[in-house]
Amino acid sequence: MLINHLNRQLRERAAQALTRQRRTALTPCAPQQQVALDGQPARELLAFCSNDYLGLANHPALVAALAEGAQRYGAGSGASHLVSGHSQAHAALESTLATWMAPQIPNAQALYFCTGYMANLALLTALAGEGAAIFADKLNHASLVDGALLSKAPLQRYAHRNLTVLERQLRQSDAAIKLIVTDAVFSMDGDLADLPALLALAERYDAWLVVDDAHGFGVLGPQGQGSLAHFGLRSERLICMGTLGKAAGVGGAFVAAHPTIIDWLVQTARPYIYTTAAPPAIAHALSASLALIAGDEGAQRRAQLQQRIVQLRSELSKMIAARADLAWALADSSTAVQPLIVGDNAAALALSAALEAQGLWVPAIRPPTVPVGTARLRITLSAAHTEADVQRLVAALAAAAEELHG
Ligand SMILES: *Cc1c(COP(=O)(O)O)cnc(C)c1O
Repeated sequence: MLINHLNRQLRERAAQALTRQRRTALTPCAPQQQVALDGQPARELLAFCSNDYLGLANHPALVAALAEGAQRYGAGSGASHLVSGHSQAHAALESTLATWMAPQIPNAQALYFCTGYMANLALLTALAGEGAAIFADKLNHASLVDGALLSKAPLQRYAHRNLTVLERQLRQSDAAIKLIVTDAVFSMDGDLADLPALLALAERYDAWLVVDDAHGFGVLGPQGQGSLAHFGLRSERLICMGTLGKAAGVGGAFVAAHPTIIDWLVQTARPYIYTTAAPPAIAHALSASLALIAGDEGAQRRAQLQQRIVQLRSELSKMIAARADLAWALADSSTAVQPLIVGDNAAALALSAALEAQGLWVPAIRPPTVPVGTARLRITLSAAHTEADVQRLVAALAAAAEELHG
């Protein structure tokens, strides 16, 4: 019986401390949030878990732009892009994104998607057809893994950032079309792919480099232009996916690439074709977000975020050094994603719970999202965090260490 079968599997997951629970937020995304769990009364928590790196998700200018977009274009798009759902607001956003990416990808065009997950499925299934092969970092985001599997192209995964292995795979491949696929900022580790070296390999082996810039777009590079700009890259071989629900604070994603690639996606990518276009108001709000990101306020927010990253790393490393008895390790990351690796699933959950008891919200991330034995707290920082917020987090971690380990 299906229900018995599922219940048995759910119990097995629970026994391995793998049960996932949703918390219901009653207030907008921000460092201070009211959150309810399982019908319990709501509590005020200091959150270190969103990907709202610039603190734009509840920015008054974007809220106003969303409302204005709804006044102008209505609530919904009414149809898919190829039928009648493609609005002037989508077109304007795509044109801004194309200009944004053109310094990195000559003649770039951009295509807007409802989510980054769908953009990655679209990209990989449309490009990795007959005769293609995919080469992917082992720690890539699940959406890239799923896109590769759905494409049915042969998939070779190389150990995280191991370019020696990748080069061997490329050299031995006789595929007519080779796609190297990587996160730019790895979502659960915060470290950066060596994009210049990957692009050099793509050039040497006549491959294409697909970069998922979910955590770099808006944050890295001059004017928040993203990871490609951070490394000063420019090539027609680059295909970039960026999400717009993280630093950009709204929702959706885009692919930027050579015009022929974008045309091919419009003609053939099923996750693009067979879905209702996102509400035009979202695209309208995103255009406002891009202007903000590229302007002075964006620069200020990136500087604030940078200060919090430096502060957290310095204070937390000191705290960890003082507790050498614990096997805690701060990952080697210079980005807003600052994982504290704990190892054991139950230990990560207990630590997250101890922080929650102190009024902090830092999620435990467990397999299969991360490799077995590397369960962690995924601390994410935002420009909206204050110096005092970060101090409070480090003090709470020290108190939790005392409480759990004496
Ligand atoms: C969040 C994320 C995605 C998916 O983007 P959504 O817009 O949330 O669907 C894809 N890739 C990476 C690396 C991500 O972190």
